[in-house]
Amino acid sequence: MNAFEALGLNEQLVQAIADLGFETPTPVQEKAIPVLLSGTTDFIGLAQTGTGKTAAFGLPLLQLIEPTERHAQALIVCPTRELCLQITNDIETYKKHCRGIFTEAVYGGASIMMQIRNLKKGVQIVVATPGRLIDLIERKAIDLQKVKYVVLDEADEMLNMGFRDDIDFVLKNTINRESTWLFSATMPPEVRAISKNYMDNPKEVTVGKKNSGNVNIDHQYFIVPAQFRYEALKRLIDFNPGMYGIIFTRTKADAQEISERLAKAGYDIEALHGDLTQQQRDKVMGRFRSKSLQLLIATDVAARGIDVDGITHVINFELPDDMEVYTHRSGRTGRAGKTGICLSICHSRESYKIRTLEKMINSKFHKVDVPSGKEVCRKQFFHFMDKLMQADLSHGDYETYLPDLVSKFSDISKEEVLQRVAALEFNHFLKYYENAEDLNRNDVRGDRRIPERNDMRAGPDRERSSYTRRDSGYTRLFVNLGTKDGFYKASFLQFILDESDLKKEVLGKIDMREMNSWVEIDKAEATRMINAIDGKRYNNRIIRMNEADGGFKRPADEGRKRIYASKEKRSFR
Ligand code: AMP
Repeated sequence: MNAFEALGLNEQLVQAIADLGFETPTPVQEKAIPVLLSGTTDFIGLAQTGTGKTAAFGLPLLQLIEPTERHAQALIVCPTRELCLQITNDIETYKKHCRGIFTEAVYGGASIMMQIRNLKKGVQIVVATPGRLIDLIERKAIDLQKVKYVVLDEADEMLNMGFRDDIDFVLKNTINRESTWLFSATMPPEVRAISKNYMDNPKEVTVGKKNSGNVNIDHQYFIVPAQFRYEALKRLIDFNPGMYGIIFTRTKADAQEISERLAKAGYDIEALHGDLTQQQRDKVMGRFRSKSLQLLIATDVAARGIDVDGITHVINFELPDDMEVYTHRSGRTGRAGKTGICLSICHSRESYKIRTLEKMINSKFHKVDVPSGKEVCRKQFFHFMDKLMQADLSHGDYETYLPDLVSKFSDISKEEVLQRVAALEFNHFLKYYENAEDLNRNDVRGDRRIPERNDMRAGPDRERSSYTRRDSGYTRLFVNLGTKDGFYKASFLQFILDESDLKKEVLGKIDMREMNSWVEIDKAEATRMINAIDGKRYNNRIIRMNEADGGFKRPADEGRKRIYASKEKRSFR
């Protein structure tokens, strides 16, 4: 008996799986499918992207759907439109031998009228992002009364993105729900609260701490002073000429700015972030998927759920705030048995994060030095020589031209011809890296090379970048607001930024607890944030905010002066 058949799946589904070439169920499929096929058991799957979780819930759903009933029977809610489309596509392939089952993806940024029209045709499985789903419910385009199965995919991410009320609404209003299936990479208290409030004795399954692909990922990090981040990124790209990669930034502004600078410098790169229209995003993704685009730079939200084959490198331009986000990012590479490399550009203050990450994913991180200009050039040379040797000579009538070529070069040596070819290809590289500086933070030893100099001047690309200010360091602020005040990270972040009129870039790590939180902030902006927030009221309670590690005086003219001075310095480019 086929392994999928043994889990209880019907013939049509087993056939579709065979067509896809899946031979054995993944661990999450093995554990989830038999439970979910009962149709009445609530389920929690702690599993990340790349573990095969879409099939783990998609296949049982297809078997449970009653094809003769033409109304919404299953609702899959997920955080982003990319993931929404991907789940829908996967389900379409799984159901290709099933008759009478229809699915529809509903997500923001696309025509709602078209989605309403399609839903009216009698769709049984609706895959939705929360915002659009609520919109459709309010317009009475979806009837939740007959929904039997609700799947929450990437629940932690939906809560991080501020969809808590929407999820509550959906769960409260699907009154004839027979079972709820929740998938999440992590189990923060907010996700636990959903299971407590809306699920009945759920069966909980964890599939490893890491992505199935993670054993194949080499995690490397580079300690670089903050003002060299951009230059370090450039070197890492140059040092890996065959790279097909995704670069992650924390903000849209960073993604946009870096992509513009690199594109101007001749790199094949585009940005993917929330400010693009759906059409622009599809275009960028289409080019990246077909490999006509070499590099994609994206924020976490925009890249959520992206499943592209053959990515060789993931680069963290900065380490993410959330440790779990790291596993999502690195999971874009090293998929389907291939190897991959995840490179993180870090500040020396972030070494502790690396230790935590090592424990979390149970893998060693290798500290590597940013390559020198010479190393980059050597690597480029060898790459070019390989290309030269692999050049396809099977087409073209080289024989005809050979005598002329030979006579043209008869007076110069083979070495000189090679030099000239190399000069044509490499002049720009050699010039660029001629006086390249050491970008590594020299007080920390690398595994591979210990820098000899203590010279921190900028590299050949001597622009002052927006990242310079990070080097001035952070301070930590205490605030007496926490999750019990109804905040989760994203909404808390929004709250303090709105109140203080500061930009997200000034913030570092945010630690939220039930009663209190701690916020890392650029030292130069700390006074401004405290002045804006300390003493205000939130839900009738006075907010206290002060410097966590003591010694802070407020409100000081001295401090104000510092803020204005630093603002002048902050001008971009
Ligand atoms: P997911 O975690 O749902 O994003 O799935 C990750 C990738 O694994 C997708 O490209 C699936 O097509 C693939 N996949 C899912 N189940 C299996 C399986 N049993 N064997 C091989 N590949 C699978």
